[in-house]
Amino acid sequence: MPPTVIGIDLGTTFSLAAFMEHGKPVVVRDGAGVALVPSVISFHDDGSVLVGSPARQRCLSDPEHTVFSVKRLMGKTLAELKEDLPHIPYQVIEREVEPTRRVLHVKIGGREHTPEELSALILQEVRRRAGNPTKAVITVPAYFDDTQRQATRDAGRIAGLDVLRIINEPTAAALAYGLDQRRTGTVAVYDLGGGTFDCSILSIKEGVFKVLSTNGDTHLGGDDFDRALMTLVTRELGIAQTDRNPELLQHLRDQAERVKIALSNNVSADYVLELPTQHLSYRRTITRAELEELMRPFVDRSLERCRLALRDAELTIKEIDEVVLVGGSTRVPYVRQRVEEFFGRKPHTELNPEEVVAMGAAIQADILTGGRRHLLLLDVVPLSLGIETLGGAVSKLIYRNTTVPCRATERFTTYVDNQTGVDINIYQGERELTKDCRSLGRFKLSGIPPMPAQMAQIDVTFLIDANGMLTVSAKEQRSGQEAKVTVQPGQGLSDEEVERLVLESVEHAREDFQARRFIELKNKAEITVRHTEKGLASEGVHLPDDQRKRIDAALAWTRQAMQGGDVDHLQEATDELANATLPLAELLMNAVVRTTLQDRRMEEVNPSTL
Ligand code: ADP
Ligand code: MG
Repeated sequence: MPPTVIGIDLGTTFSLAAFMEHGKPVVVRDGAGVALVPSVISFHDDGSVLVGSPARQRCLSDPEHTVFSVKRLMGKTLAELKEDLPHIPYQVIEREVEPTRRVLHVKIGGREHTPEELSALILQEVRRRAGNPTKAVITVPAYFDDTQRQATRDAGRIAGLDVLRIINEPTAAALAYGLDQRRTGTVAVYDLGGGTFDCSILSIKEGVFKVLSTNGDTHLGGDDFDRALMTLVTRELGIAQTDRNPELLQHLRDQAERVKIALSNNVSADYVLELPTQHLSYRRTITRAELEELMRPFVDRSLERCRLALRDAELTIKEIDEVVLVGGSTRVPYVRQRVEEFFGRKPHTELNPEEVVAMGAAIQADILTGGRRHLLLLDVVPLSLGIETLGGAVSKLIYRNTTVPCRATERFTTYVDNQTGVDINIYQGERELTKDCRSLGRFKLSGIPPMPAQMAQIDVTFLIDANGMLTVSAKEQRSGQEAKVTVQPGQGLSDEEVERLVLESVEHAREDFQARRFIELKNKAEITVRHTEKGLASEGVHLPDDQRKRIDAALAWTRQAMQGGDVDHLQEATDELANATLPLAELLMNAVVRTTLQDRRMEEVNPSTL
């Protein structure tokens, strides 16, 4: 019987799932015994989509249609991706959906996909292999912030999963090794994957893990070993950078990785290139010692990061009780040896380092669904809690399954000039729109001093005490105005009701996600329309006829698109409006300069009038 709940390691290069059977984690494998699903997606002109190994094979031969390393994009803005973009061959663009929120899109084959939707495709494939379970725990790096965790949660829901919890990868690894059985202790988790390196220091107290510090390098991993080998070979072959074609690159990379992996078990291996079409025939024996020499600077770098993590955790090497190795690249004997030397103790390697995170996630999922209730008896929030934002969307502050007591604060602002009050409407539920959630109460924060839209800083705080009482407070930072209310969110909810609401949210995940994007885009369009109308009223007369006509048409189109529900349509309309109003914006800028100059002149004539 297929499992109903799984743990998923959603990796940068590989993803996989595990589930509990007879009290032990079991990794999901395909017919050939393969557990790892390459985190790669390829899109084809006929509309078909490939995920996993077949997509990975096309990565170098058809780079324009393949997407990899989506995890690097999750919950990020374009500005935050500066370092990553040079490594990404596909097109990444950014759309501003709200003045305070930007969303990335990957543009491929004339279509746009959000990172959440792309990750959902990977999750869907992992889920399919496990027999389509409905619940999952998904792991993320310990350094992921709230936005990145939220993006991962959304991806899970789009893939049809009720995401029980997002947990840290190092915590999952420690759990897989049963380190929660220790009463107290400290653990160092060394995770060297394909393209990323993470070192985390955890503490254990009464079976509960806490991340004390993390450090790492988002561009350090097994890929660097492959590249170093490729460089060695291309140099010997005298292949210039410009001579590299996709087919050659694909073979170079495949051979490099194959040789690297072979050298983890053998002291020498042959690098073979047979490409008659390119008049290439090359065979070269590579020794383990040679590869280790190439790896040395990269391993040095990783250990330097461990040193920093220890410093941040305020611990010395001697104070670390356990060391856990995670990630495919820790199968390299040289890596193991260097980590052991560094920490002065033998690291845990009994479990497969590529599977240990998924196994830990499966254990956590089991704990959450009651399989090991005696282990962790913590009260959790049954349904997510949040407030209504403009246009009827719900902004969640506390997610379901968070253990109580807990607290969360988020900053909001005003949308209209001189708005002196805001209504705080509190909602409970998993859906994205207020109409599909349950209202828990409302209050008004008034007395905000008049100021331009988006200048107010309103911090909303949700606090749930150990008894489950929720207190929501709002405070405008500039004026210090404050208001709050207390409610009992758990009241009158049966387990069945909670279950039904959660299932509903999963069923509607995709449409909810779209609806939310539409609302955000519409809010932004509203502001643009307002600004344009204002601008036309003051400077419109100075516009040439054709430009004026274009703006009017774009305005009409945008207004019409705002009535519909089609995100792409509205996006197109607002793009056109933005372009059409460029000349108007210029006029307005000049007008501002002009008035400032006039003011200055007045000042000079008669300063006392101010
Ligand atoms: P990620 O967590 O980044 O998605 P993994 O932990 O699965 O990735 O690690 C993938 C990396 O491990 C790849 O670079 C792969 O070549 C490398 N790898 C896998 N097996 C071995 C091995 N036996 N020896 C050396 N490297 C290996
Ligand atoms: Mg990993």
